[in-house]
Amino acid sequence: MKMSVISHQSGPFSTVSMGLPGDHEGKTATRVFFVRGTDRIGLIDSGLHGGLPALKQAFEELGIARSDLDFLLLTHEHMDHVGNNGWLKAETGCKILGHHARADRVADNMLNARTIVHAFPEGEQFDLNTEYLDWMGPTEGPIEEFIKDGDVIDLGGGVALEVVEVPGHSMSEVGFFELSTKTLVLADPLLPPFNPVLYLYEDPNVMRATFDKIEKFLIERDVQSVLLAHDDVKTVVESQKLVDDCRRRVDKVEASMITHMKANPGISFSELRDKCCDDQNMVREWRALVSIDASLKDFVAKGLAEKRDCGWHYVG
Ligand SMILES: [Zn+2]
Repeated sequence: MKMSVISHQSGPFSTVSMGLPGDHEGKTATRVFFVRGTDRIGLIDSGLHGGLPALKQAFEELGIARSDLDFLLLTHEHMDHVGNNGWLKAETGCKILGHHARADRVADNMLNARTIVHAFPEGEQFDLNTEYLDWMGPTEGPIEEFIKDGDVIDLGGGVALEVVEVPGHSMSEVGFFELSTKTLVLADPLLPPFNPVLYLYEDPNVMRATFDKIEKFLIERDVQSVLLAHDDVKTVVESQKLVDDCRRRVDKVEASMITHMKANPGISFSELRDKCCDDQNMVREWRALVSIDASLKDFVAKGLAEKRDCGWHYVG
């Protein structure tokens, strides 16, 4: 008897958990969410390509015929969320919906991989293409219809998903709010505490604005529970705590950068990176690296830091 891949069921939702390979094994999983209305069936994200056996098993366990899937709804373009787009498109004929902002990357695996690698700070070499392509799968499934904040996807019988834009972790990111059960589905804007990945190489100000937006949304829309792509289902109180914790993690990275630039005028990027990672107990991996790079760029834009004689100075 195979282990079930369905980790949670509530109302119209069935959560499928896919283990992550390599370094990430056992640490976290990517979750994708089937949403069943009376007339139509949606799937939020296609997961990482290595999770394809789990996805196939989920169709069987849930008794959903492949041809019955109507929509694949994408939260954002990252590899562990779009890895089975091509397979789903070919096998089910579903329509793929997503935000326009990174549609070019969803349509092109190589471009998706390259943009991550190219975002790295100068002098730091990480070849992620292999890992990235492994996780994305051999084929793409491009977005066929764009969705934006406030759009509603009606699945029938009162089950409907409202699009909620939550940029910051990715500038294309959206969540989905199911109106009949007041369930909010979020992929990566809120990540579990052991995880340094929040705003990657994007803009920390946009990330912070999204934390505020989510906090307000939880109260104003009377959210009953939150489903997360890399964490267990949360109550509203638990989600509020998580938002606070995420905010503190961004603040901590920046406070630590300022401390080390002040204490070591002319500090190199790699030294700054190492010291910041030590402060947060973060592994010196690319996610931590690109977040520090993003905050440094933001400091420069605000006139708080500048590069002189190959080193970084705090001038705020
Ligand atoms: Zn992501």
